[in-house]
Amino acid sequence: MSRRVLISGGSIAGNTTACVLGRHGFDVTVVERAPSFRDGGQNIDVRGVGREALRRIGLEQAALDHGTGEEGTVWVDEHGQEAARFATDEIDGDGPTAEMEILRGDLSRLLHDAAEAHATYRFGDHVASLENTADAVVVTLESGAIERYDALIIAEGVGSATRELVFAGENDSRWMDMIIAYFTIPRSADDDRMWRWYNAPGKRSVSLRPDRHGTTRAMLSLAKEAEGEQDWDVERQKDFLRERFADAGWETARILSALDATDDFYFDVLRQVRMPRWSVGRVVLTGDAAWCATPLAGIGATLAVTGAYVLAEELARHDDFAAGFDAYERQMRPMVEDGQGIPKLAPRLMHPQSRLGIRLLHGVLGVASLGPIRTLAAKVAGGPGTEVDLSRYT
Ligand SMILES: Cc1cc2nc3c(=O)[nH]c(=O)nc-3n(C[C@H](O)[C@H](O)[C@H](O)COP(=O)(O)OP(=O)(O)OC[C@H]3O[C@@H](n4cnc5c(N)ncnc54)[C@H](O)[C@@H]3O)c2cc1C
Repeated sequence: MSRRVLISGGSIAGNTTACVLGRHGFDVTVVERAPSFRDGGQNIDVRGVGREALRRIGLEQAALDHGTGEEGTVWVDEHGQEAARFATDEIDGDGPTAEMEILRGDLSRLLHDAAEAHATYRFGDHVASLENTADAVVVTLESGAIERYDALIIAEGVGSATRELVFAGENDSRWMDMIIAYFTIPRSADDDRMWRWYNAPGKRSVSLRPDRHGTTRAMLSLAKEAEGEQDWDVERQKDFLRERFADAGWETARILSALDATDDFYFDVLRQVRMPRWSVGRVVLTGDAAWCATPLAGIGATLAVTGAYVLAEELARHDDFAAGFDAYERQMRPMVEDGQGIPKLAPRLMHPQSRLGIRLLHGVLGVASLGPIRTLAAKVAGGPGTEVDLSRYT
């Protein structure tokens, strides 16, 4: 009899697990809180072993074909003049812009479409309560349905509510003193294929990135201590950005003027999820719900795809769920801990307070972008260090 698994959360991690478990013959249901498949989000990249996981799932080429077409990263000054340039085709491998750059929604869609044949999807519902017993997980969904599964996989992202039901008080969040907002704006004639990054005094940065949908992806970030801004309503968050970025310069006025009309505003105060364990009984965490490293680490999607793949493969190798969960955690911990090891200083270094600080940053980046050390510098800037070995899953 096939094993019944409920996956909560239908984004990168949830869809990856659903796809691989479903292909291994598990009876998979995915419950997603959003009323329909959740598009949206900005450029994410998949590097190293994350690409290998996609290759094994059969989606590497499709993900490359759906790439954003971003050709590299440039730091610009207030006049738009380049201070440093890392073009992907001049770097041996991945740099700040990876070889595989794809919109979050596009990657999630590819994984969802691959999983759909092997899993049942339910949108607009979520786990309201659950019992994690020796024999089964009995969940009560918000819709009122009471269902019994052999295991529950929580893939609900950084703010996971079900994680708090099961692992109450265990998340030792690490706040990164940084706010980021992402949203889509109309493309202008000057928007090219590069990721353009502008630093403004006052620890602010503004960036514009290309996509393949005829629009441009904007990001505003601000280094500051967290004051609960993630819980504000969207209008208050937008007002806050308007006020704090009003005098930032460069293309900021154009970006702020698009705030009202944008339909995919995403705002977060960055925090890492730090869990002492990823499973208890028949419940396990994966993706950002288990270990969010924040966009500062640049490996959120790589970790989500890789970790979800490893979890599914380990469950397929073990008859006992607890043994599979343990093997998954043993495999993934070193890579996650390495990925989370970004110094808290990083946001401040990349967001200087003064014009002098910005000139110094540009000087350092300018030197790093020079031919002889460009590839080395790019490797430091992006990509996982410690990687899990997937060869055991052949
Ligand atoms: C809409 C959106 C936009 C994003 N944009 C960016 C971006 O621009 N740049 C970036 O670096 N990262 C972005 N991220 C985060 C990025 O996707 C993750 O860091 C990474 O890919 C790990 O994915 P994940 O599947 O673990 O978590 P997530 O991608 O966060 O997905 C979690 C999923 O679980 C669902 N969910 C949440 N709570 C529940 C619940 N109680 N029950 C059922 N379902 C639930 C959410 O709706 C979501 O679909 C975005 C995430 C989302 C959801």
